[in-house]
Amino acid sequence: MNLKAHIDNDIFHLIGNVADTMNIDAYVVGGYVRDIILKRPSTDIDIVCIGSGIELAKQVAQTLPQKKKVSIFKSFGTAMIHYYSLGKDWQIEFVGARKESYRRDSRKPIVENGTLQDDQNRRDFTINAMAISINEQTFGELLDPFDGIYDINRQIIRTPLDPDITFSDDPLRMLRCIRFATQLNFSILPETFEAIKRNCERIKIISQERITEELNKMLMSRHPSLSFQLLDRSGLLKIIFPEFVALKGVESVGEKSHKDNFLHTLQVLDNVAKQSDKLFLRWAAVLHDIAKPLCKHYDEKTGYSFHGHEVKGSYMVEKIFRRMHLPLNENMKYVQKLVFLHLRPIALVEQVTDSAVRRCLFEAGDDIEDLLILCQSDITSKNILKKQRYLSNLRLVQKKMKEIEEKDRIRNFKVPVSGEEIMEMYNLTPCKTVGILKDAIKDAILDGNIANDREEALKFLDSEAKKLGLKKKE
Ligand code: ATP
Ligand code: MG
Repeated sequence: MNLKAHIDNDIFHLIGNVADTMNIDAYVVGGYVRDIILKRPSTDIDIVCIGSGIELAKQVAQTLPQKKKVSIFKSFGTAMIHYYSLGKDWQIEFVGARKESYRRDSRKPIVENGTLQDDQNRRDFTINAMAISINEQTFGELLDPFDGIYDINRQIIRTPLDPDITFSDDPLRMLRCIRFATQLNFSILPETFEAIKRNCERIKIISQERITEELNKMLMSRHPSLSFQLLDRSGLLKIIFPEFVALKGVESVGEKSHKDNFLHTLQVLDNVAKQSDKLFLRWAAVLHDIAKPLCKHYDEKTGYSFHGHEVKGSYMVEKIFRRMHLPLNENMKYVQKLVFLHLRPIALVEQVTDSAVRRCLFEAGDDIEDLLILCQSDITSKNILKKQRYLSNLRLVQKKMKEIEEKDRIRNFKVPVSGEEIMEMYNLTPCKTVGILKDAIKDAILDGNIANDREEALKFLDSEAKKLGLKKKE
């Protein structure tokens, strides 16, 4: 098969011509080939040559119209060129074809120079093992020893060699397998999936950073729930994310039961994914009910409840982020906040007072839209009438929030008198009283007793300070 039309980009001719003058064979391989056949736009190009990838990259850089710097990674035997053309930033990685062999205790292989076939043999899936020749004579010729084209057409993920060996050699491939199945909406060949089940324990030799990188990619796909279903069915999820597996199952006593919180969470996650591309909003969806198993309570009259799971859940976020090597920064605080507040907008439905709405706006601040997306996504009742009722109630709350925000500007509200000013006015050193006075002003504004205004706040402060027996400095 000739795929000339697929790689009709000057850069491939240029690299091919340089390879010709060096008298070596060169190919585009791997993900880039898969993606052009699938018509998925991609700017990461991998070039394999039968010889030194670093030498080829250096020569290519010399020949490019704009002289380019080559980044060389000597210990990996690779070189990288960033190149701007056709309105895009291309990253081209060059490597010599290699042969790999593995030891049992590490995913770092012993590497030797090899043939194109050796190089294709070490690749993870048939759809990732295709190469296209770029030498002038054979430009565009597809080299596809494992029939990756056939697997692309039937939408199957399959390992080129014995899947038990492929996964045991480098267990990260099990996660890549599930990630590709989700991203491309492909099925995993049953034999391949069975091998993941058999090798799932091997995931323990993979570093957490790499695992989390894959989880993030899964979360960013269109239907992230698919990944978690597959991770669960393969046995991987209970190893890499036991808290998530703990959400599974339905318990019942007589007529009373609760929903399966695992399936519910997956639905919330997909709902959020339809509305937002924010990775950490998706993490908030994954974690919003994470404490439910720890907060489950059964009462003969009222049935099951999960009282306080939003509070406990927000505490669990840090522990999970730490273990997952997710960033312990404002992104984590954002997830904590959303988990903590996820019941709030719906709770407002029962008592939609101005003051409760103001408090919610104040606590959510700029993340109020995201909180509303999470809250709306959390409505997964199968009872259509019930679902409609919840959604229309939530719309009412949203309307009210908009009105109050326009009127009172609460969202980015800061107490209009600072702690320093309070200390100065009443001759105080930093102490509890300063906090008490500041909170009193905040509460008065959020409760609507005074306006969100400095004059009124100062007057109110004066009366509160008097109650505490404080004297104002002359
Ligand atoms: P994406 O860029 O979306 O992650 P990709 O397939 O391009 O997908 P890369 O990590 O960029 O993945 O790797 C490029 C190619 O290198 C793959 O297509 C595959 O052929 C090979 N490869 C990458 N990781 C592995 C691995 N762990 N085991 C075997 N081959 C791999
Ligand atoms: Mg890639």
